[in-house]
Amino acid sequence: MNNTKILEINNLYVNVNATQIIKGLNLSINSGEVHAIMGKNGSGKSTLAKVIAGHPIYNITKGKILFKGEDITFEEPEERSHKGIFLAFQYPVEIPGVSNTDFLRLAYNSKRKAYNEKELDPLSFFDLINKKMQSIDMNSIFLTRNVNEGFSGGEKKRNEILQMDLLESQLSILDETDSGLDIDALKTISNRINELKNKNHTIILITHYQRLLDYITPNYIHIMREGQIIYTGDKNTAKNLEKYGYECIP
Ligand code: ADP
Ligand code: MG
Repeated sequence: MNNTKILEINNLYVNVNATQIIKGLNLSINSGEVHAIMGKNGSGKSTLAKVIAGHPIYNITKGKILFKGEDITFEEPEERSHKGIFLAFQYPVEIPGVSNTDFLRLAYNSKRKAYNEKELDPLSFFDLINKKMQSIDMNSIFLTRNVNEGFSGGEKKRNEILQMDLLESQLSILDETDSGLDIDALKTISNRINELKNKNHTIILITHYQRLLDYITPNYIHIMREGQIIYTGDKNTAKNLEKYGYECIP
């Protein structure tokens, strides 16, 4: 079947600490598409990403989020993750005292468990994760380090892509994954994202820069302003933005 809707957001309003941040947002995404979300700092992009993933701090006061036609507006983040939603954070958290390999294996196995699949033993997991790390030029030393602890900005972003790869989600939201990456890392990671994107893996890219979109071509580019999507264009929108700035958006 063509054009299956993976995500639909209807008239969404979101508060945090009594401040309204998302104000009547609509968004509709078909399975297999790539959507970029751009917009000035503070327009609500990261809030939207976290609300889709189910971050508990945000309070939805109106509207609906449907994932594959199912209402997930008030679902727990774990459930959403098991259903196939993945968020790569703009600011990945450090988890001192937890090794990266334990963290990744736990995340992987808890998803398998949710699907009634057998958990992977540590050795088989090591083989799996090692292959995935090679595909993004990530040294296996990062398995023994604590999650993101002391990782450089770029190393944290690679680690997020590794998680995305591992969890084989159906909808991945990448919040400024390109920021902090040097040109080589940007190429490597973009290539991997392109390899992982397919008709069953939809991607939302939040970015400020055309250069990411030179590598990963979006089907649509949405512009956010003050908690709403105020404009939707195609891949050329970002080029115009780079040239003329946000003033060119009506
Ligand atoms: P963007 O990612 O587009 O730069 P954000 O979604 O991070 O924007 O933030 C949108 C607005 O919401 C900003 O003004 C920010 O300060 C505010 N905001 C986000 N999270 C919180 C919070 N936990 N408490 C108070 N204000 C917040
Ligand atoms: Mg942000």
